[in-house]
Amino acid sequence: MIIDGHSHVTFPIQEHIKAMDAAGIDKTVLFSTTFHPEASKNFADVQSSMEFLNDLLAGKKGSMVEVRQKAVSELMDAIKQYPNRYIGFGAVPAGLELKPTLQYVAENIQNNHLTGMGEFTLGSGQIHLLKNIFRASQEFHNLPIWIHAFFPLTFQDIKEISELAKDYPETPVILGHLGGSNWLETVALIKEISNLYLDTSAYYSTFVLASIINEVPEKCFFGVDRPFGDLQLSKNAVLQFAKTSAIANAVLGENIARLLNIE
Ligand SMILES: [Zn+2]
Repeated sequence: MIIDGHSHVTFPIQEHIKAMDAAGIDKTVLFSTTFHPEASKNFADVQSSMEFLNDLLAGKKGSMVEVRQKAVSELMDAIKQYPNRYIGFGAVPAGLELKPTLQYVAENIQNNHLTGMGEFTLGSGQIHLLKNIFRASQEFHNLPIWIHAFFPLTFQDIKEISELAKDYPETPVILGHLGGSNWLETVALIKEISNLYLDTSAYYSTFVLASIINEVPEKCFFGVDRPFGDLQLSKNAVLQFAKTSAIANAVLGENIARLLNIE
């Protein structure tokens, strides 16, 4: 089974399903989004989408409780339309007190039968805001936590995430985008910490992708990051650079199927 472990809700939903069919992707772990760059009609639209994204990644947008709730309802609509094709991860605001965090997770993740929490897009120096998210994971049967780990996170931030992962050894922690430009040091942490995993989407270069999937194949999950990645190209990259078909199969689906109990 081929599973895209990381893409966002894109409209129209039917187009995404068509693209999955065309690329031979059976299921997608779907994430909500607070903006829709795929709807850009011209470069000026793209530019304003990217300005929003940069503010988001810089932590300038705050917890955005209302925006996130709208995003979760878009996600739920998509999953209800295609329950056999989508597995959902839901956004949770970081930095809230413990009680409202647990309440948010109960209402938005548990009640909606979502499988994990994320994508967390924090600014550099903000990793401590995830503390209550890890506690919530522990409360709710070790919900996996998916964290954007490309720019603007530094290796210090990634190290702080890995410390949290060590403190909560039952919680699966997925570092998005192979750790970005800090990929080399990140792989060392992945080898050391059993509950720390890597997502391949937005890989830094094909050289980096090839080096990592063949070094720690059991710890990598294939991801596309639609609308930023293309399904067929992303899948082809793993197929082209995996040294054996066993490695390709593990990365393209078996690993995440095992982690999330996908049948
Ligand atoms: Zn990301």
